[in-house]
Amino acid sequence: MKTKIILFLLLSSYSLFSAPTWKAAAAKVVITPEKKMWMAGYASRKTGAEGKLQDLFAKALVVEDASGARMVIITLDLIGVPRPFRLAMEKEVRAKFKLPPSQLLLNASHTHSGPMIRVVRPIGRGALARPATVSYDNIPVDQQTRRVAETIAYMAKLQTTLLGLIGDCIKNLRPAKLAYSHARCGFAMNRRLPVKGSFRNSPYPDGLVDHDVPVLQVRSADGKLLGILFGYACHNTTTGTMQFNGDYAGWAQEYLEADNPGAVALFVAGCGGDQNPYPRGTIDLAKKHGRSLATAVEAGLIANPKSLAGPLRAALAYVDIDYSKPPTRAELEQRAKSTNRYDKRYAETLLEVLDAEGGLPKNYPVPVQVIHFGSQLTMVTMGGEVVIDYSLRLKRELGNGRAVWVAGYSNDVMTYIPSLRVLREGGYEGGGAMRYGRSNPHPSHWAETIEKRLVDRIHALDRKLTHSRE
Ligand SMILES: [Zn+2]
Repeated sequence: MKTKIILFLLLSSYSLFSAPTWKAAAAKVVITPEKKMWMAGYASRKTGAEGKLQDLFAKALVVEDASGARMVIITLDLIGVPRPFRLAMEKEVRAKFKLPPSQLLLNASHTHSGPMIRVVRPIGRGALARPATVSYDNIPVDQQTRRVAETIAYMAKLQTTLLGLIGDCIKNLRPAKLAYSHARCGFAMNRRLPVKGSFRNSPYPDGLVDHDVPVLQVRSADGKLLGILFGYACHNTTTGTMQFNGDYAGWAQEYLEADNPGAVALFVAGCGGDQNPYPRGTIDLAKKHGRSLATAVEAGLIANPKSLAGPLRAALAYVDIDYSKPPTRAELEQRAKSTNRYDKRYAETLLEVLDAEGGLPKNYPVPVQVIHFGSQLTMVTMGGEVVIDYSLRLKRELGNGRAVWVAGYSNDVMTYIPSLRVLREGGYEGGGAMRYGRSNPHPSHWAETIEKRLVDRIHALDRKLTHSRE
């Protein structure tokens, strides 16, 4: 009986994987900082990292269709993707590999146990005379210079490392078969608990979730598993330790690679802006969630995977999303007297921008990207900490006869991206978090046009790609 089942699985996967029409390669590289760098994600930390629980990785999957069109997918065990880093990568990838920005995806797992990756440049009068700082103001003043140098050096090295990784994959491209399937995993829960007209960051079992686990498997011509690209929509924040680790996504990848020797497992963060892993708080739970997710991915690998044909097409746009009405100078001057240190610092930062620029920014270019793996699978990526509504809506609107995969935390992570519903409801993801961004200060909440502008542009990119395939 057992033999029969195994035989059946083998036959069914072989029939799905007919002639290889793709070329592909996957690779990974350790990016755990060598030094005891400051960690990103929680403002409460008092010292730099104290070693590691597991390595952090940058991973690359490069796929090429029969006509030679390529897509480079990079996943990072990091908190985000700073916009300057993305722009520098776009430039280098175009120069070195002749790839337009639309064919490059950078996705961050949003682990809160990785290194600090942002530097805050001084603005305003006398800015040149003042040193840059890293994002957290609890770092002792006498450490700032060292921490800034550390972060700049880390990001410079990361850029070189990623370019090397992409080059290696392109050199190693070989005939491959791609198949898509999906499974489910249940530990993500909505974290916007309504309490007396406001929202508390707490488990909300009646809130919206998306438990889908998209799985793209890449196999060699003889059926060997080379790469597993998988996603999940949930904050990667089971813990906040003092030791580097990739949180549940790090362990899910580690378990998948242990279970499938020779394959590279790449985690793509979904629209988990308002989703948390529960229960949470310990490393043991991060490992348990990692195991749950890895097991779901393994179910996805055998759950009726659909063989993908080309062509591969990708489109990218930076959508200028408006801010709502900015505060006046008088309001900011009043707020700068606040006893709340975040309010005070936020107002001071905006006053500096006002002095230097004569006005506050009116909008921010949020990246959106659409990738067609033929007519069967469409991947949509969005910048920022995207809330779950976008995932549910885009799958409903685009999913007519094709699989749709929606990723957040892609190509830039500047703050939360609420839907109109969440924006109007308010709370942390609705705009409350926007005062914390220091490397690119946001003058006010997003305007109510945000959801329509992003979704309309995604539809427009999708239509453009559909027409280009006809
Ligand atoms: Zn977050």
